[in-house]
Amino acid sequence: MKADVAVVGSGFAGSVVAERLAACGYRVLVVDKRPHIGGNAYDEKDAAGVTIHRYGPHIFHTNGQRIFDYLSKFTEWRPYEHKVLANVDGKMLPMPINRTTINGLYGLSLTEDGIQQFIDGVREPRHPKNTSEDVVLDSVGRQLCDKFFRGYTRKQWGLDLSDLSPGVAARIPFRTNDDDRYFTDTHQVMPLAGYATLFARMLDHPNICIELNTDYQDIKNDLVSRHLVYTGPIDEYYEYRHGRLPYRSLRFEHLHVEGVEKYQPVGTVNYPNDFDFTRITEFKHLTGQSHTGTSIVREYPQAAGDPYYPIPRPENEGLYQRYKEQAKMERAVTFVGRLAQYRYYNMDQVVGAALAAAESVLKELGHGG
Ligand code: FAD
Ligand code: UDP
Repeated sequence: MKADVAVVGSGFAGSVVAERLAACGYRVLVVDKRPHIGGNAYDEKDAAGVTIHRYGPHIFHTNGQRIFDYLSKFTEWRPYEHKVLANVDGKMLPMPINRTTINGLYGLSLTEDGIQQFIDGVREPRHPKNTSEDVVLDSVGRQLCDKFFRGYTRKQWGLDLSDLSPGVAARIPFRTNDDDRYFTDTHQVMPLAGYATLFARMLDHPNICIELNTDYQDIKNDLVSRHLVYTGPIDEYYEYRHGRLPYRSLRFEHLHVEGVEKYQPVGTVNYPNDFDFTRITEFKHLTGQSHTGTSIVREYPQAAGDPYYPIPRPENEGLYQRYKEQAKMERAVTFVGRLAQYRYYNMDQVVGAALAAAESVLKELGHGG
């Protein structure tokens, strides 16, 4: 187990760093405890031949031109603008809440100005916005908060909106117009040949050696490298010396339905108030694949299991800062990614963080100096 740089994890964080370092001539060893590369963005064909995302729906979107250009070296793209409906009061209504949502929910036919007046009448301005509840009440008021946000959030996080940092609900805007896209980024695309292919191309380099089914904890004493890039949970790296960082997990229920071309009208339907799952995603919308059947996934949030989401709230951030202080003292170890930085990052943010991390590792190795 010898290399210039060892990288733990082959998701976006680990793969981007490995690719950058290999391109600069360093020998990189990538280890992942899973049997495949790609981390949570991994996709594959199910038994029926439909492309699915094993760890839940991954929709790529970014405003970062540099990030888009970088990934474009490894994939072609398929334009895709994600749409989400929320099942509320027996109706399927656009999410984020927009003009169509409000008119549909209340049987109104308000113009954009009318929607603005309606919202001004129901919103509860909050200054400052300290929690996700403040964000939603400030934006759309209590009734819409209770119908669209409170139940979903309770299921997803096992917490009330008032127990979560403002950034969680701030991911979802409010619109007075009819724009029913989930994201508004300049680039909204899916990798044409899928994520697994994108990762395979990224890591296909003579300087990169990949060891799958390999847990860092089992091999760390046998690793010989000048630098370590760690993308797993930071508390695990330090053997939980300051206590466990809470992560939210999910159980994915994948289902193939034969003889049905489309299961639902849009990529994702959210169920804020019914059932134990939060949402159903139908992959053919995301991938554009043609097939006589279709495949869906239901997401059931749970406390135990693989760490999928850091849980953004002040006490968790406080604990993370203790690990971060420790991490700062390491000269030969870099922590990057959603688990290692305990950040609710989207894929593009992880790519951005990994490109920056690769540059600092190169500096540390004295590259070009
Ligand atoms: P990961 O992808 O988690 O990779 C970490 C890797 O490290 C894993 O492969 C793991 O096996 C490995 N590892 C961990 N510990 C060890 C160890 N001890 N030894 C060896 N290997 C180890 N982002 C978007 O932009 N759009 C979306 O639509 C979107 N949807 C999402 C839906 C879900 C359900 C989830 C959970 C996330 C979603 N994301 C989405 C976020 C996206 O998954 C992450 O931003 C991104 O995949 C994180 O990359 P990463 O490399 O930091 O972590
Ligand atoms: N959210 C909600 N209702 C919805 C959609 C989102 O309450 O219909 C809240 C919920 O707290 C969720 C957060 O907004 O966890 C972020 O939603 P997003 O769709 O970005 O979550 P992700 O795709 O990362 O799971």
